[in-house]
Amino acid sequence: MAVKKVADTIPLITPIANIFRLTEIQKMGLTKLGVSTVDDLLYYFPTRYTSTAEIKHIANLVKGEGVTIYGRVVSAKTAKGFKSKIPMTEAVIEDATGRIKCVWFHQAYIAKMLIEGAMVKLSGHVEERTGVLYLANPELARTKELPLDAQDSLFQNKHETVFYPVYPETKGVTSRFIYYHIQKLFSNGILDNVIDPIPEDILTLYHLPTLRTAIVWIHSPQKESDAKAARKRFAFEEVFMIQLARQKDRALTKEHKGFIIDPNEDALKKFIARFPFKPTVSQTHALKDIFLDFKKGVPMGRLLEGDVGSGKTFVAATAAYAIATTAPHDNKFGNLQVAYMAPTEILAEQHFKSFIEYFRGLPIEIGLLTGSGAKKFPSKLDPSGATTVSKAQLLKWVADGKLPILIGTHALIQKNVQFKNLGLAIVDEQHRFGTTQRGKLVKKDATLPHFLSMTATPIPRTLALTVYGNLDLTLLDEMPAGRLPIKTKLVLPNNRKEMEDHMRNEINTGRQAYIICPRIDEPDPEKELALNAKSVVAEAKRIAENIFPEFEVGVLHGKMKPAEKEWVMEEFKRGSIHILVATSVVEVGVNVPNATMIVIEGAERFGLAQLHQLRGRVIRSNHQAYCYLLTESTNNVSQKRLKALVTAKNGFELSELDLTLRGAGELSGNKQWGISDLGMEAIKNIKMVEAARNEATRIVAEDLSLASYPILLTTIETKHKNTHWE
Ligand code: ADP
Ligand code: MG
Repeated sequence: MAVKKVADTIPLITPIANIFRLTEIQKMGLTKLGVSTVDDLLYYFPTRYTSTAEIKHIANLVKGEGVTIYGRVVSAKTAKGFKSKIPMTEAVIEDATGRIKCVWFHQAYIAKMLIEGAMVKLSGHVEERTGVLYLANPELARTKELPLDAQDSLFQNKHETVFYPVYPETKGVTSRFIYYHIQKLFSNGILDNVIDPIPEDILTLYHLPTLRTAIVWIHSPQKESDAKAARKRFAFEEVFMIQLARQKDRALTKEHKGFIIDPNEDALKKFIARFPFKPTVSQTHALKDIFLDFKKGVPMGRLLEGDVGSGKTFVAATAAYAIATTAPHDNKFGNLQVAYMAPTEILAEQHFKSFIEYFRGLPIEIGLLTGSGAKKFPSKLDPSGATTVSKAQLLKWVADGKLPILIGTHALIQKNVQFKNLGLAIVDEQHRFGTTQRGKLVKKDATLPHFLSMTATPIPRTLALTVYGNLDLTLLDEMPAGRLPIKTKLVLPNNRKEMEDHMRNEINTGRQAYIICPRIDEPDPEKELALNAKSVVAEAKRIAENIFPEFEVGVLHGKMKPAEKEWVMEEFKRGSIHILVATSVVEVGVNVPNATMIVIEGAERFGLAQLHQLRGRVIRSNHQAYCYLLTESTNNVSQKRLKALVTAKNGFELSELDLTLRGAGELSGNKQWGISDLGMEAIKNIKMVEAARNEATRIVAEDLSLASYPILLTTIETKHKNTHWE
C-alpha cells in the first residue's frame, strides 16, 4: 500500500482529530471515551473479543447449548403466562438463516428495548417446548452492527475462526471505527514511535511482550494466546505504574518532617473515659498505631479500614483530641489544628454533632464548614450548643489558629481555607474523594500534616496494596460487643407481602426502616438526580398510601435542599418518621441506631460494595437488623452477586468474592479505584501484584527521583499524576 510513512512526524501526543477527518459526533464520542491523542487511542483496549466460532446461526441451534446469536428483531410483545400469569416478554429474532422465539419471564419491561428491526445480540440457553426451540431469558444487548466483518462470515458461512476486538462504544464511535483507525495508525508506521516505559530486564524476568508487540497483539490478535500475553503485559504495566507512583509518594512523604505529637497519657485516658462505651480491642490497636506514627517525626500516612459500624469516629476523635491539645514546636501558645473532611453535608453535620458530644465541656472549639454555611461550638450565649457564624469569621479563626478542629465537606479544600497550624487531616470515606482533592487539603502547609484516611469500603488485599500503596494500613476488624449479625434476605416478588408484614411487626415494636429506591442510570448527572428524586417521591407516596398507611413516611434524595435534608434526618433520628424512603444518599455513614431494617429495591443495579455500605446503615445497635434485597432479575451473575452478599461473613470476604465474580463478560469500560478493567485482571493475581510492587519498591529505593528512568518518570507524571498528595 502506498501510504506515506509519516510516523516521524506524528508524535504520540498528537490529537487524533489532527490526523483523521472526524465528524462532530465522532469527536464528541471520542471525548466521552477519554480518547484524544494517538497515545490514548493505542491504549484504548478492547474489553473482549468475539470470534466467529462463538457466534451461531439460528438455523444451527441445538437444544441445550449455550449460544450467542446476532439478529434483527422481527416482533416483540408483553404477555402473561397462560396458567402462571407471570408477566413476560416474547420476541422473534431472525438472522440470514432463520428465526427463533425468545422468552423473558418476569421481565415485561424488556419488550420496550426490543424495537422492531433493531439489531440485537443475545446470549443464552436453547430450550425446547413442543418441538419448538426458543431462547429462555437470554442476555440482551442492542448492537448497532455486527462485530466488524462478522456480517460476511455470519451470513456466508466462512469457516475459519477470526478474533474481533470489541471496545467500549459510544454514540458515533463503534468498535469497527476504533479498529480501523488503529490499523491505519499501524500502517502509517506509528509503532516506530512507541517507546517502552518498562525496563527491559523486567520484561524478560516476567516473560512479558514488548510494548510494540503488545499493542499489535491486543488490537489484532492472530490467536487467543497473543491477546492473553498482551493483556497480561498491560495489566502488569498498569499495576506497576500505580505502584511506582505510590511508592515514590510514600518515599517522598517520609523525607518530610512531621509534627511530633506526644499526648499526656492521663489526659488521653480521661478523654477516652468520656465515651459511653469501652473501646474494642481493634480500636485500641488502631490508636496505638496512630500514636506510634505521631512520635516518629515524619508525616503519618495511614488508612483506617473498618467495616461500617466498627467505630471509626471514636478513633478519629481521639486522634483529633491529641492534636488539638498539642502546641506546635515554635509556638507555645497556639495549638495544632485538625481538618476532618466528610463526603456529604449530612455526614459532616453528623460528625460535628458527635464531636460536640465528645468534646463538650473541654476548652476545645469546633467549627463546621459546608457549602451551605458555617457553625461554631460552643456558642457564646449557650455554651452547651452550637451557633451559626459567618463563613468569613470562621475562616479567620482557622487562619489565626484559634479554631483547633474544623469539620466539613469539600468546602474545606477551597482556596480561601488556610490553616495556621494544620497538624492532622482526616478524610472520612475517602473513596468518595479524588486523590487531587485529598491533595488540596494537605498541600497548603509547609510542614506536612499527618494524614488519616478512613474507609468502610473493604477492599481485597491485592487492591489495597496497589491503590493505597502510599499508606500504612490499620484494620478495624471487630464490631463493638453485642452486635447481632445482620440477616440478609433475597426477596422475590411473590415474597414481598411476607417482608412487609415482618416490617410492620418490627416497626410496631419501635424499630425504623429505610427503603432505598433503585438506582437509575442516566449519563447526565443532573437528569439522574431528577429521575431518582422522582422515583423516591412516587415510591414514598405508594408506600404511605397503600402499604403502611399507619406509619409516618419520610423522603430523602439528592435534589432536596440541605436544610430540608437535615430536617428529615433529624425527624428520622427522633423517631417521628418511621420509614425513610431514599436514594442511595444514605449510603455513606448515616447513623440512626434505631433503624434496623433496610429494603433495597432493584438491588441488582447497585455494586456489591455499595450494597454493603447501604446495609451498614442498619447495624448500629444491638437489635436484630435485617437487609432485604429485592430483585426481579433472573440473570445468573446478578443472582450470584446478591447471594454473595447473603453469605459473606464480613466486608473483606465480600470484597474478595466481588473480585472473583468480576467475569470478563461484565467489564464495564469504566474505572474503579482508578484502575481499568484490564488492571483489575492483574489485581486478581496476587503474584503479579507482588511482582509489580517489588519492582517498584526496588526502583524507588535505588533512585527516588527516577533520574535514570526518564520514561518511567514521564509516564507516571502524565498518566498517574493525580496520585500525589503530599
Ligand atoms: P463507622 O466505623 O461506620 O464510622 P461509627 O463511628 O459511626 O462507625 O460508630 C457506629 C456506632 O457504634 C456509633 O453509634 C458509635 O457510638 C458506636 N460505637 C463505636 N465504638 C463503640 C464501642 N467500642 N462500643 C460500643 N459502641 C461503639
Ligand atoms: Mg463513619
